[in-house]
Amino acid sequence: MTIQDVARKYAVAVSPAIRALIDPTDPADPIARQFLPDVAELTVTPEELADPIADEAHAPIKGIVHRHPDRVLLKAVNACPVYCRFCFRREMVGPGKGGLTPSELADALAYIRSRPEIWEVILTGGDPFILSPRRIRQITDALAETGHVKIIRWHSRVPVVEPERVTDELASALTAPGITSWVAIHANHPRELGPDARAAITRLAKAGTSLVSQTVLLKGVNDDVRTLASLMRAFVEAGAKPYYLHHPDLARGTSHFRIGIEEGLALARDLRAQLSGLAQPLYVLDLPGGFGKVPLDSQNVVKTETGHRIRDFAGEWHDYPPLLHPA
Ligand code: SF4
Repeated sequence: MTIQDVARKYAVAVSPAIRALIDPTDPADPIARQFLPDVAELTVTPEELADPIADEAHAPIKGIVHRHPDRVLLKAVNACPVYCRFCFRREMVGPGKGGLTPSELADALAYIRSRPEIWEVILTGGDPFILSPRRIRQITDALAETGHVKIIRWHSRVPVVEPERVTDELASALTAPGITSWVAIHANHPRELGPDARAAITRLAKAGTSLVSQTVLLKGVNDDVRTLASLMRAFVEAGAKPYYLHHPDLARGTSHFRIGIEEGLALARDLRAQLSGLAQPLYVLDLPGGFGKVPLDSQNVVKTETGHRIRDFAGEWHDYPPLLHPA
């Protein structure tokens, strides 16, 4: 088993900005660990899934995931400037995976237009910021024209991994009259928020977007309270309110990144003790099977002999990891 076998299975790309952050003298470098392929990715554990949060089960048409009545995911692209080794959509993103064609995008927008209950559209993917400002503007304007979509949330790693792509033109294409635009910036280690990333985030703020963060809790990258606290403070300093701290999903070939729920709960407790309210993220798990995100806390998590029981937003309890052969 070699790195070439990994690259045949999963997309690999490292941007110049990320390459510059990697310390080649450190075999445990937390930036390298996130982006450079590892033969450990060829190990698939029984509980791992090709579609860990069941996007497909909630996709009425190509490019849309409609899990909750008032919001949809719009996946316009399936490419990213980097490919994170722990990505929960790793089987769906990469060269040749195809984004939406113009007519498929028109159909996805028509789906949103025809459902007045949709209040929020979350652009995710793939990374929507790899679209040109012209195409981003088309999407923003089409959503604003619906009249009922009030919020567009752009999930992106570009401000960190390719900050030069966040031009004033791109930033201004995210907003339109009648719409409030939010950007959820994905970063997992404080070193990712250097001067260029912070300048990109400032350009987004100046263009009128509101900013939140998202982070994946990853073994060997940020699974200690010092690193996490420093990252959350860096987000606040850059002007992004910490939002989600994700427990890693059960994507195939990612077990070397996963920590246990108990460890995650302990880290979340330690963060609460150390950080001001402004810097607190919400520790969440996206339940396998498409049951949505759950805040991981004592109300929603019970330890069992085989793992945990976790309560979803509808009050139903689920085994985690899911039982492979339920009795
Ligand atoms: S940027 Fe997001 S979608 Fe792209 S590889 Fe990383 S985690 Fe996956």
